[in-house]
Amino acid sequence: DGITLHKVRDYVWEIPQDESEGMRAPARVLASETLLDEISDDMSLQQLKNATHLPGIQKYALAMPDAHQGYGFPVGGVGATDAENGCISPGAVGFDINCGVRMMKTNLRYEDVRGREEELVEALFENVPTGLGAGGIFEGSVADVNRILQGGVEWALAEDWAVPEDLAHCEDEGKRPDAEPSKVPEEAKQRGRKQVGSLGSGNHFLEVQRVTDVFREDVAREFGLVEDQVVVLIHCGSRGLGHQTCQDYVRDIEKRHSGFVDQLPDRDLAAAPAGSQLAEDYYGAMCACINFAWVNRQLIMHRTRQVFEDVFDRDWEAMEMDLLYDVAHNIAKKEVHEVNGKEKELFVHRKGATRAFPAGRPELPAAYRDVGQPVIIPGSMGAGSYVLRGGENSLSETFGSTAHGAGRTMSRTQAKQDYWGGDVQTDLREQQHVYVKAQSGATIAEEAPGVYKDVDEVVRVSDALGIGDKVARTFPVCNIKG
Ligand code: 5GP
Ligand code: MN
Ligand code: MN
Repeated sequence: DGITLHKVRDYVWEIPQDESEGMRAPARVLASETLLDEISDDMSLQQLKNATHLPGIQKYALAMPDAHQGYGFPVGGVGATDAENGCISPGAVGFDINCGVRMMKTNLRYEDVRGREEELVEALFENVPTGLGAGGIFEGSVADVNRILQGGVEWALAEDWAVPEDLAHCEDEGKRPDAEPSKVPEEAKQRGRKQVGSLGSGNHFLEVQRVTDVFREDVAREFGLVEDQVVVLIHCGSRGLGHQTCQDYVRDIEKRHSGFVDQLPDRDLAAAPAGSQLAEDYYGAMCACINFAWVNRQLIMHRTRQVFEDVFDRDWEAMEMDLLYDVAHNIAKKEVHEVNGKEKELFVHRKGATRAFPAGRPELPAAYRDVGQPVIIPGSMGAGSYVLRGGENSLSETFGSTAHGAGRTMSRTQAKQDYWGGDVQTDLREQQHVYVKAQSGATIAEEAPGVYKDVDEVVRVSDALGIGDKVARTFPVCNIKG
């Protein structure tokens, strides 16, 4: 309503900059006609337009093909701001700081798990904490939390929750060196103390999958993926710790930078001016929460290895349960990108968007420097998920980013009216041979496959634009959630 888009070329749509309205850049939506229709159905386009008001925004605010409305800034949104003269916005990172996914490989074939799904899903559900207030795999003191916030997966390695290869196959080797644990609120640390190694509720899940398709043989070989292989996908974030941190900083920013925030069309975009104390503090705190989330996913992966050892009666090393990669999809990072022919340091906000760096970027681990990083895109518990590799065009088009999922088309409230968890669960088992176990039926209804966009279409657009290239597709075998 009232937002006009013009087509730049196939899959690229632009909201032109209107300076009289206060837009500091145009906005772009990367989508097919079908996806654009769905994206236009909620507040995403308005939120994307609002994001162009962020001081120091570079080139254009971007919506990925899976975009849907979020808090202030769309989920599936990318916004890069000048790290020196721009701003940083907690709303453009999201409440679940470093929500993300990791994929662990195995050398098991689908026939090794077929017929044993129930046993496997029960064992996983029994051993991996899910839901609200379930506790964590590790529960420690605030001092422990501080060590986790500082060290990330290095802490996990020192405490025998990880092997060195796990660090080498995690974005940023599982540690943001800019972390400032002292800037994370005390209350957040208290909440995090008992949640290290826990999935949480709602959208978070652990899913055993099988590889159904390989699209780029050469890249799949580098990634160690073959058809029929069993893999495990883990999706969760920084739990109450990240949420509390985001909430406290949004409140402080609104208080201490009210003039700055008042210039923005939506208070939920609340941003702190680059260089201010609060911007620095938030960045340090956010980086610490990022480390916490990586440790969270690491402990869950470690526990999953033990569950597989019990169920299949072999060592995890013998089952080659190695981490393919761990990618963050709620994050802001200082990165250097070329803007108008000049290298510039930016805060790249990716909220419900995944880094998709192509071959050559120095940030990539040695294993992927020559092929591009693995990008992991979950679909739903009744549809495929994808492994992509960072595309050559991502740096010029999207500040090195692509989608993070299929993206919702239906609100949680609507989903609970349209679906009943028990029915969804039965249909998945009987029609698709997918075994789901959750703490609550409402969660299954909220996450029913029908609430999501078509992941095949999202990935097709990413591939066609050359920002993230299709490597392999997977399909769920069994799934646990909160
Ligand atoms: P978000 O981080 O935005 O909550 O979710 C990321 C994506 O995960 C969603 O857009 C959706 O496509 C996907 N997703 C949600 N639930 C499931 C699930 O149970 N299994 C799989 N494979 N993907 C899911
Ligand atoms: Mn999350
Ligand atoms: Mn997520």
